[in-house]
Amino acid sequence: MTTSDSLPKNVLLGGLEGGGTKFVCAVGTGPGDIRDEIRFPTTTPEETLARAIAFFRQHKPAAIGIASFGPVDLNPASPSFGFITTTPKPGWAHTDVLGAFRRAFDLPLAFELDVNAAAIGEYTWVPENRALNSLVYYTIGTGIGAGVIVSGQIIHGLTHPEAGHVRLPHDWSRDPFAGICPFHGDCFEGLASGPALAARWGQAADSLPQEHVAWDLEAGYIAAALVNTILLLSPQRIVLGGGVMQQDHLFPLIRQKVKALLNGYVASPLFEGDLSGYIVPPSLGNRSGVLGALAIAQRLIQS
Ligand code: ADP
Ligand code: ZN
Repeated sequence: MTTSDSLPKNVLLGGLEGGGTKFVCAVGTGPGDIRDEIRFPTTTPEETLARAIAFFRQHKPAAIGIASFGPVDLNPASPSFGFITTTPKPGWAHTDVLGAFRRAFDLPLAFELDVNAAAIGEYTWVPENRALNSLVYYTIGTGIGAGVIVSGQIIHGLTHPEAGHVRLPHDWSRDPFAGICPFHGDCFEGLASGPALAARWGQAADSLPQEHVAWDLEAGYIAAALVNTILLLSPQRIVLGGGVMQQDHLFPLIRQKVKALLNGYVASPLFEGDLSGYIVPPSLGNRSGVLGALAIAQRLIQS
């Protein structure tokens, strides 16, 4: 992955984070120089993509990075490259997101999964992260997913990692909730996404008080998923973003549970103490995705 130090400084770039709930479009040269930014709700593909395209037409960036909610096809050799594929979101399955931009612009265009862009954003623009060679970014919101950077490169693979759908230990006597994933029931996302919390407890996740038993259970599921990721990929840092992680009391709980589950087995200077430098909130706040989209646009200009 490139570092921003070696990149041209004054090229106007476009970044789009297309989420299932809202779209964010920005133009600028980097996180410290955003010239314009808009947010609007995700409605139909036609209306929503047209709005994003109109924004970039107005600003004329030299390249655009497009980061979409998934699942998406990231294989440039595939006929459906740049499409959203099997989403249950009404109206959006098999939407040619990249194609809509290709028809509108004769510009370099990059395409990524939204959570991958968030990982790239955190990695590219945060100097402390760039000093590492691996990082995993989780979003825990409406859905759960993770972007994985290993040896400075985002992992695509067969399609892209689907870390929200891993299986976790599920103690049915403590948590009789069957989970809400339409594909797997009680996978990680089925048990621990924002809508899973709402379905289990009968109230919106953001209205559950801090002392509610929900949070200890939630931290347990997140910790179990993180332990698997730590053992499988050995990342040097894990960033936890998404709406549910705005409950910042979850961070110390998750760190304690990860430590307890690993029981001293993983030894690294990065893994010492209370893990407050290892399991961290996003440095870019809720803008990791759109700033990651800007980063992938920047790479197109340089190459
Ligand atoms: P999206 O996943 O659509 O990009 P978010 O990451 O904001 O958006 O996730 C939205 C989900 O996160 C919703 O299920 C919502 O209930 C939950 N959420 C948002 N804010 C909070 C909060 N402060 N505390 C707990 N849950 C929250
Ligand atoms: Zn699932």
